[in-house]
Amino acid sequence: MAQARKAAKVSCDQCFFRAQMLCALELDQACVTFRPNHPEGLRPPRQMRFVFRQERSKKAAWAFPSAAEQASLHRA
Ligand code: SF4
Repeated sequence: MAQARKAAKVSCDQCFFRAQMLCALELDQACVTFRPNHPEGLRPPRQMRFVFRQERSKKAAWAFPSAAEQASLHRA
């Protein structure tokens, strides 16, 4: 049985768009657009993960990843 990777809690202060003053949103927490602010700038996300049929039957086939999931996808 596959275990979901625990995603780190992220905030807008860690977001590339906030750091570059490109964000016009005033939210209490990070949104699904979150991208980690690296010195090199934006990095492309890793290849999407394979979803096994057993997991897929329990939830939607695809959904926007949460801000915390975005952070884990872009972790070096
Ligand atoms: S996480 Fe979303 S709301 Fe927060 S700074 Fe980034 S783009 Fe803006």
